[in-house]
This record gives sequence, structure tokens and C-alpha cells, in this order.
Amino acid sequence: MTGYVPGEQPKMADLVKLNTNENPFPPSPEVEKALRAFDCSRLRRYPDPMADALRDAFAARWGVKRANVIAGNGSDDLLTMIFRAFTSPERAVAVLEPSYSLYPELAAMQGAPVIRIKLAPGTFALPQDLLAQAAGANLLMIVRPNAPTGTLFPKETIRSICANFDGVTVIDEAYADFAPDNCVDLAKSFPNVIVIRTFSKSYSMAGIRLGYGIAHEEIIAGLMKLKDSYNLDMLTQAAGLAAFLDEDYFAARRSEVVAMREELAGELKKRGFAVPDSASNFLFVSPPDGNAARLFEELRKRAVIVRYFRAPATASYVRITVGAPRENARLLAAIDEILA
Ligand code: PMP
Repeated sequence: MTGYVPGEQPKMADLVKLNTNENPFPPSPEVEKALRAFDCSRLRRYPDPMADALRDAFAARWGVKRANVIAGNGSDDLLTMIFRAFTSPERAVAVLEPSYSLYPELAAMQGAPVIRIKLAPGTFALPQDLLAQAAGANLLMIVRPNAPTGTLFPKETIRSICANFDGVTVIDEAYADFAPDNCVDLAKSFPNVIVIRTFSKSYSMAGIRLGYGIAHEEIIAGLMKLKDSYNLDMLTQAAGLAAFLDEDYFAARRSEVVAMREELAGELKKRGFAVPDSASNFLFVSPPDGNAARLFEELRKRAVIVRYFRAPATASYVRITVGAPRENARLLAAIDEILA
């Protein structure tokens, strides 16, 4: 197997880092307060293996029971549990292309076959015959809004897929906080749907590693058996809860990112880029000459790091994380220089 290749974390001076969809804002000030108030003598004990305080907070927010929620060391941890649970050499997974490139690697770890379902070129829409293509798979992975494309698949289509797919459907909502709606209600109404969330993007806490999943309690009970015993450390549990409860800060920063996304999309369109609609905190854009590989390299020379995926379906696009205003301005200045 190739192994997943994470976006680089370069150590250049004066870097504009727009390659891993992190948030340009710091986390809520409540996080710092919680960490300062933390009694370090508690660290000699193990953390709560079930992360009950966090799960109760998530359950209360979404109107489900604690038994419907599992917390993970980032949503990647949840994805690992899900692939352990539902894939094997006899049980295939269906994935979209392009989508999150970790999924085929998790399948490889289980020796599971991968059914690749191509999105429409240019619009990145779901194919009409998705269910026929996914037939026989035990697990179906949907990212909504999708990464790296930013596409918000129609909710009614997703509902119909959930109702008709004969296996477990995962809706990875890593970026859903930047979208106008979400699919948590589908995890509440279907027994075979898992919605997963992360603190890495909308909560500005990629460094702390926290995610959670919502599903029928039978699925959650099964995943609990597969997780590392103490998958969430005490500091993560304390900091995550503080961030989650600060709803005002969260809502304000989220709106700012969405506004900056629309502004950046407008600026790139003015410069002749193809900019498919994004409901996320990044844009998947194609430069006027379609030469995304060159754009990526030229930006890199100017210490502006974006993400480039070489596969045929993505080769004429770069994925740009919405940065702070100063970073977006540096990006646009670099693009102007390159286009000139
Ligand atoms: N799902 C998707 C679609 C992602 O883009 C990412 C970020 N790479 C993740 C899950 C994982 O996020 P984390 O493990 O940081 O929660």
C-alpha cells in the first residue's frame, strides 16, 4: 500500500499556509482558560475512557442520547474504527472520486476491496446510478460538503441514498459547519447511517485531535469495542468541552470564514479562475490556463502553500484553504505576479 500522505507542514519563514484546511482564527479563549485552570496533578490518572462529559454535551446539542455518540482522537480515529468494523477482504467499501484520500488507505489496511465511484467532471456532482455502482459494498463513504471539491451534494439525494443503500453509509461532515445545512437528522432517523464531525476545522483545534460520531446505539456500541481504551486524553476532553460550549465565539468565527470564502471566490473569478461553488472552508479552483501543477509550484516559490492532487480528476485544480485576510491578500498578490 502507498499510505496516506498528509498535507505538508513546512517550516519556511513568513509562510502562508493554505494547504490543510485549518482555521485562520485561534480557538475560543475559553480553551486557554480551561487549560490554565487544569490541575496537572490529575494527569497521573487515566482519562475517562468513555469521554462522558463530552459525549453528553454533543448529545444535548443534537438531541440524541449519550449512547448515540462516540468521541475520537480526531475524526481519523473514528474512521479507523469504522473501517475495522465494516470492511474486510470480503466486505468492500464504496468511495467517491475525488474525495478524502485517506479512505482507500484505510481499506488497504483491512485488505478490503474499494469500489471507486466517479463524480461528474467539472461539476463534481454525484452520478445518477450511484447506488447501482455501490451495490455489494458493505460501507459507503460520503463527504458532505465534499473534500477536496467543496461540493454540497443535495440533501434529498443523500437521504434517498441512506434509505436505499444496503450497508452502512458514513456522512463525513468535517466541513459541514461552513455549509447551510447538515445531515445529523439522517443519523437519527436511519439505523445504518453514521455522521462524523471534527474539531479540526470549524473549532480551530486541529492540534488537539478531537472528533465525534453520531449513529444508532447499536453501531456506537460496536465501535466502542474497537476503539483504543483511552483514545482521548484528559487535556483534549477539557479543552474540547470548553470550545464546544462557547457557542457565540464559534458562530462568529464561522460566519467570518464563510464571508471570506465568498470574497476570495469572487477575487479568483475576476482573475479568470474556474471556481466551483464551495460550502466549505476551502476553494477547489482551476487557473485560467488549467496548469494547476505550475501554479502550485510558483506559489510555493513565493512561500504560499496550497494543496495539489496529481490524480487525473484533480490535476487541473488546486485546493486553497480560506486564510486570514492578510494571507488571502498575499495569495492574490502572488497569483497576480504569476499570471502576469
Ligand atoms: N474527513 C475529511 C473529509 C477531512 O478532510 C479530514 C481532514 N484531513 C478529516 C476527516 C480528518 O480530520 P481530523 O482527523 O483532523 O478530525
